[in-house]
Amino acid sequence: MPNEDDVVECARAMRAFLARPDLLGDEAASTTLRIDALLTQAEAGEDVTDALRSVFEQHDATREWARQFLAPTPALRGYKVTPGTSGPTPAGSRFVCPKCGRVWVRRQAGEEVPDCPIHLIARVAVA
Ligand SMILES: [Zn+2]
Repeated sequence: MPNEDDVVECARAMRAFLARPDLLGDEAASTTLRIDALLTQAEAGEDVTDALRSVFEQHDATREWARQFLAPTPALRGYKVTPGTSGPTPAGSRFVCPKCGRVWVRRQAGEEVPDCPIHLIARVAVA
């Protein structure tokens, strides 16, 4: 069971994600406002875990997003970061989110590596 801090961290991370039009569309603005209000209360020391969870539950997209964010992930086990991968890498290269371990495989040389959809950070190349 994720603790309160995890849920608040999830809401903070989700807030950045809501700025993307592909998650909630028209509902994004009002959802962002609700999350902002609850995060302000959290910073004031209130327990807003249940309230945040009910916000997540309002839409399939945010519910699923929160579920993935809060799920324990055996992240980087078995992956070794490849040194010196700033240059172009060939097709078949694997990239992994350093936070959650979500893997993306490049199908064509030169294909742009998408950020982790959960953490919005660049994936790193792994051997
Ligand atoms: Zn990630």
